[in-house]
Amino acid sequence: MQYYSVILRSCPHALTYASKEEIREGSLVSVPFRKGSQRAIVRTKIPSDEGFSAKNIEKVLKEVILDKQQLGMISKISEYYFCSINQASKLYLPTFLWNEKRPRRDEFLRIRRTARAEGAEGAARAEGYNVSQLKRSPKQKKLVELLQADGEMEISEVKKMFSASIITGLLNKKIIQKREGKICPGFKISYSGLKAVKKLTEDQQKIFDNIVSSKNQKHLIHGVTGSGKTEIYLQLIKKTLEEKKGAIILVPEIALTTQLIQYFANHFKNEIAVLHSKMTNNERAQEWWRLKTGEAKVLLGSRSGLFAPVQNLGLVVMDEEHEWTYKQDNAPRYHARKVAEMMMEMRPDVKLVLGSATPSVETYFLTGAGGKGSGAGRAEGAGGYELQKLSERVGGSSKTELPLVEIVDLRFEFRKKNYSIFSDALQEALTETLKNKEQAILFLNRRGAASAVVCRECGYTVKCETCEIAMTLHGRAGEAGGDLLICHHCGSLKKPILTCPNCKSTYIRNMGVGTQRVESEIKKMFPQAKVLRADRDTTNTKKGFEKIYNDFKNHKADILVGTQMIAKGLDIPKVSLVGVMLADIGLHIPDFRASEKTFQLMTQVAGRAGRRDKRGYVIIQTYSPTHPAIVAAGNHDYRKFYEVEIADRKDFGYPPFAPIIKLTFQDPVRKFVFE
Ligand code: ADP
Ligand code: ZN
Ligand code: ZN
Repeated sequence: MQYYSVILRSCPHALTYASKEEIREGSLVSVPFRKGSQRAIVRTKIPSDEGFSAKNIEKVLKEVILDKQQLGMISKISEYYFCSINQASKLYLPTFLWNEKRPRRDEFLRIRRTARAEGAEGAARAEGYNVSQLKRSPKQKKLVELLQADGEMEISEVKKMFSASIITGLLNKKIIQKREGKICPGFKISYSGLKAVKKLTEDQQKIFDNIVSSKNQKHLIHGVTGSGKTEIYLQLIKKTLEEKKGAIILVPEIALTTQLIQYFANHFKNEIAVLHSKMTNNERAQEWWRLKTGEAKVLLGSRSGLFAPVQNLGLVVMDEEHEWTYKQDNAPRYHARKVAEMMMEMRPDVKLVLGSATPSVETYFLTGAGGKGSGAGRAEGAGGYELQKLSERVGGSSKTELPLVEIVDLRFEFRKKNYSIFSDALQEALTETLKNKEQAILFLNRRGAASAVVCRECGYTVKCETCEIAMTLHGRAGEAGGDLLICHHCGSLKKPILTCPNCKSTYIRNMGVGTQRVESEIKKMFPQAKVLRADRDTTNTKKGFEKIYNDFKNHKADILVGTQMIAKGLDIPKVSLVGVMLADIGLHIPDFRASEKTFQLMTQVAGRAGRRDKRGYVIIQTYSPTHPAIVAAGNHDYRKFYEVEIADRKDFGYPPFAPIIKLTFQDPVRKFVFE
């Protein structure tokens, strides 16, 4: 008899089962559990005396579904993140594997090929149908429009919205067609517009060579926005494929990266697979199998892509490594960067390449670049990361200059008796932008929930004396004088303040401006301007953000108002102005990373202005115009920010100098939480 340690789906501990035959580690098996049987993964063979009583493994369903390294990672993750072994194993084994064998093939609907380019009218014309025929059936027209926006949709999804007769009608008119087969995971991957590969610039080539030739496993590309990091990734993937290896490319928020997917898909065609949380189980299963069987060799995914079964892995890229979407909020509460680093220990032959315009303080610290000078080239860190610097935007002409940033002191506006949410400078800039028929983005760091208390006149904020973190007002929302100020870090409490201890002003208030408020103020001030709003309310649906993005890109609106989500990845040539409504909101959130996050956001937002033919203009409104994070963002000076920040981190014992663990106690009964 042999004995095996086995991981079950619904049991937090590994259990021991027996088998007469040898079973390979990592195999998918079924075992008896409670009254039924369950799927499970064989973790290790364990030595045990004959006669030890254990139930028998029923059947081997699939040999070696997980390899040694993946099994090793499951143990590591469960130890490091204090989660159960089956929680950790779920990262590697998507739900479908526990349940069924192979996924079915889907059926899709799409606009007929010949017709797609010219739209519904073209479709009708090409097929000899009159558009008026579509007009007579508003529902058919609606479906055609949907398919045009989405590229293609699963028939099962379409059937939820339209009756069968509508679908057959359009099929008969030959305006749409069916397609059976593998998914194009929610995106219009057409593989059509294959572009010539760009020749790397001298700086890009240097970094590519550095990474390829380096003995170092881990690299951080610090490149300003628009410096061409994507091209370096592309070449690294090409090289990896040439070596008959696979690659994992992680991006922070896949929904915002359809352009990137399309771009990579054009180069790598069906060698690419896509995985992210918004896909259906079935979609995910197909992509998973394509990787597992080696049909697809490059995975483009969000944080969980790290666990995809890419065969013979050779490269892991993490774009925008500083982004917080890489951290998972429920168990296992892993950070993809940390997990990637653990993976590197197990796979010394794999390269890890992180990229960012504003690297996280922790990663930058690990390059050991702290005290040294600037310039392109490499710096090898004590923490094992080699720093690769890209200091200029591709092109190097005035057209590609970083935008001009103006920091507006809101305390001064208050004294000028400008009580509107727009400073004079921002009003003027908006007027100018609208006059020139250009576009503007107005940005709010965060939804205005509970936030810091700030003095309108001098900018004073109430901070915790021990933690140097802004305290949060709890109680009657919207005004000081509520119940209590709380430090969310150490839990200390303070009475709210009615007059500013610094300047004695009574205009000391809880801050927060919402997107709706900004939208309505614009409508008052610029009634002729068309406004779009992108926040959690307007982008709830799968396609919500894409639609807003496309509408804005096609200049269907002059001003886009939004939260974090519009800070990233937007590349819209006509945007010449970016306004940050209130930089302080992010600065005074109760989080030791508040400065870092604010600096990153300001820099990212600023990068949205003037990406093509004109130097962009950025206005940052703030009550803290001298705050190092804001000043450094205004000067596009990462190093300056880093130096101030790392010194603070050291003084207060924050990461990277000490780890911080958050313990959360929950119970419906208050008493039990405190016990
Ligand atoms: P980043 O990801 O660093 O912000 P991108 O990769 O988006 O920068 O590149 C910025 C712009 O420069 C893109 O429009 C890209 O097509 C262009 N670009 C990048 N590298 C090259 C190159 N070697 N030759 C020509 N254009 C390039
Ligand atoms: Zn004051
Ligand atoms: Zn505190």
